[in-house]
Amino acid sequence: MKKKGLILLVIIIGLLVGCSGGKDTTKETFNIEVKDNVKSVNDEIFISTGDHNEINMTLVTSNNKAILIDTGFKEKEALKIKNIIKEKNLKLDKIIISHFDDEQLNNLGMFKQENTDILMPQNIKNEQIVELGDKKLKLLLTNGHNSNGHISVDINNNILVAGDILTNNKKSYTAVTYNEYGFLLESLKYLQKTNYELIIPSHGDIIKDKEFISKKITEIENRLSKYDIKADKFWSEIDDDIIVSSGNEYTVKKATMVLAISGKEVTMIDTGITENMGKEMKKFIEENGLKLKNLIITHDHYDHTNNLDMFNKEGVNLYTYDNSNDGDVIKCKDKEFKIIFTPGHAKNRHLSVLIDEKIFVAGDILASNIDPVRLVDTDEAGKTVINTLEKLNEKQYDIVIPGHGDVCLGNSVFNKNIEILKREFK
Ligand SMILES: [Zn+2]
Ligand SMILES: [Zn+2]
Repeated sequence: MKKKGLILLVIIIGLLVGCSGGKDTTKETFNIEVKDNVKSVNDEIFISTGDHNEINMTLVTSNNKAILIDTGFKEKEALKIKNIIKEKNLKLDKIIISHFDDEQLNNLGMFKQENTDILMPQNIKNEQIVELGDKKLKLLLTNGHNSNGHISVDINNNILVAGDILTNNKKSYTAVTYNEYGFLLESLKYLQKTNYELIIPSHGDIIKDKEFISKKITEIENRLSKYDIKADKFWSEIDDDIIVSSGNEYTVKKATMVLAISGKEVTMIDTGITENMGKEMKKFIEENGLKLKNLIITHDHYDHTNNLDMFNKEGVNLYTYDNSNDGDVIKCKDKEFKIIFTPGHAKNRHLSVLIDEKIFVAGDILASNIDPVRLVDTDEAGKTVINTLEKLNEKQYDIVIPGHGDVCLGNSVFNKNIEILKREFK
């Protein structure tokens, strides 16, 4: 039985090799082997994959020299690379850190020696060349994943170590906020100019699909074109009928308040942190001849209720956790606001609002600019909020407005928050 299977496998491989060999003889062929969660490409590039969302770290070698790209999340994946360096007696004189996150930095101490050169977004130039024997590594500054810089590495114009601007794992994320998606699109269009044979993402399996980048570009363009969004630092407008204002950076970072316009009537969600935010929104309502009809409060924390008295006047319907039920629907002309109880913050007395089944106003169970761990006060609450987010993440949203930070596109802010919270609370 075993022998038969082996013969069949040999025939299949033979056919595959025969086919691809006949098609294109100019391209380099890659021999990829997998052993104990380490993939090797032509026995020269080694990718060790950890169990945390299939995080990858990559060792590029040439003869007896090596360059490491990222250092892994857990010790386990890094030790495997350490062993390869030892077994092959390699000299590691450079480490490239694609960007600053625990997943890339955790094991830096294991590899860094006194004379090791550390290359990071802050100390390289775009398209800087790093020579490694027969290999030329081109460092590319690729924005779109975070705000403090990101490097992708081009190896000999045919392999791309992409970092976190491309992913092949469903639980990880690339861009989160609307503005990051804009940068990501630019980066991908830039990378598309080179025909990469292999892409090593920072999460998940090696990508051999040559259309992968083009497909991502189309996907992002479709998402971006669905709404007309103007996203400024503290004031965003979505299709001219959803307004998001956020406070300054210094107090409680960028607490959001939302105004949804239905004809001449408006529904407000939270009232902002600074008096200025409140005044600015009040002015907007007056100048546009609008009338505040409904006021929904996600939770009773001052950074979301500070201007309550400015707006909670006669004739305004006030909805809070105390007088609402999970699943309640508030109608305002053409718009529907569904109240969803979202435990995990403010001693579980917290609600979120889903507008027309597409735009999710989260309140403080999500943040796009601060560590979400800061929004959780106990281990118990941490686990509760993870559970809340995982449930919500089963549904697809076009836009997510977090309690703190910039407007987000799609669900990736859920992935980001869940991932960060799980590092702390599991
Ligand atoms: Zn809060
Ligand atoms: Zn808050």
